[in-house]
Amino acid sequence: MEIQFLGTGAGQPSKSRNTQAIALKLLDERNEIWLFDCGEATQHQILNTTIKPRKIKKIFITHLHGDHIFGLPGFLSSRSFQSSEEQTDLEMYGPVGLKNYVMTSLRLSGSKLGYRIIFHELENGGKIFEDDSFEVYAEPLDHTIFCLGYRVVEKNRVGELDAQGLKEAGLPFGPLFGQVKKGQVVEYKGKIFDPKDFIGQDKIGKIVTILGDTRKSNAAVRLAWGANLLVHEATYEAKESKMARNHGHSTSKQAADVAKEAGVNRLLLTHISARYVGPLVNQLASEAQEVHANAFVVRDFYEEKID
Ligand code: ZN
Repeated sequence: MEIQFLGTGAGQPSKSRNTQAIALKLLDERNEIWLFDCGEATQHQILNTTIKPRKIKKIFITHLHGDHIFGLPGFLSSRSFQSSEEQTDLEMYGPVGLKNYVMTSLRLSGSKLGYRIIFHELENGGKIFEDDSFEVYAEPLDHTIFCLGYRVVEKNRVGELDAQGLKEAGLPFGPLFGQVKKGQVVEYKGKIFDPKDFIGQDKIGKIVTILGDTRKSNAAVRLAWGANLLVHEATYEAKESKMARNHGHSTSKQAADVAKEAGVNRLLLTHISARYVGPLVNQLASEAQEVHANAFVVRDFYEEKID
């Protein structure tokens, strides 16, 4: 599981930062990628990565401000062209109004897609997705318009079967192996094979929390509780906390406060105001690190493995 930042700026694109978009790469886990927000020119940014648009199977939108959604019509249209051999459906999650925005843009521009979009418009939080291996939760944050944060929970997986050990203990390969793997005690030729002896420890799933724009909020703490990774906006430096409040944003220190309260392992700061360039970015980072040592300000295309 990896995360890659396609846009890390706030409000408008700058020469060094595009507007918001984040790719959560679940290629090993489910051979797909989930996109969080889609600022203008996200598809151009994708061209500079190894990401294949058809691998993006879910898009989660935090809120309907332009710097988070203006890239959607272009990306959705190009995804249709680029995946001519395999048109796979796309699920989209986000605030009410998302469907209207997307469908109006596509209709007025005469854009036809070769795949279906399944919309999940959210009026509130709660569990919004679950299957065998993952769950996703959403909760409203504290911004100037309705804005969501998302918590992605990978379910724990059963540990690995010690096939060699089982064979050496006298069980032949075959259906009985499957029974042990499923946790059943198996008897074979008078001998007992207990799964406890042949299955390793459960593999603990990862928790990743990706938030939209927000003031410091308790919802953010709940969403990030015990997460391996929290992605939090840090539009301003600490001394601009009044400005942050007025515009519905956070300072890097406030983001670190949330990370600390929630007990997260790693904090990545994004959605950086264009006023912070060069050494000023280090200022944001060091203010966060005073509160939460494992914090880092990301730039466009930054990627890391989640552990
Ligand atoms: Zn916003």
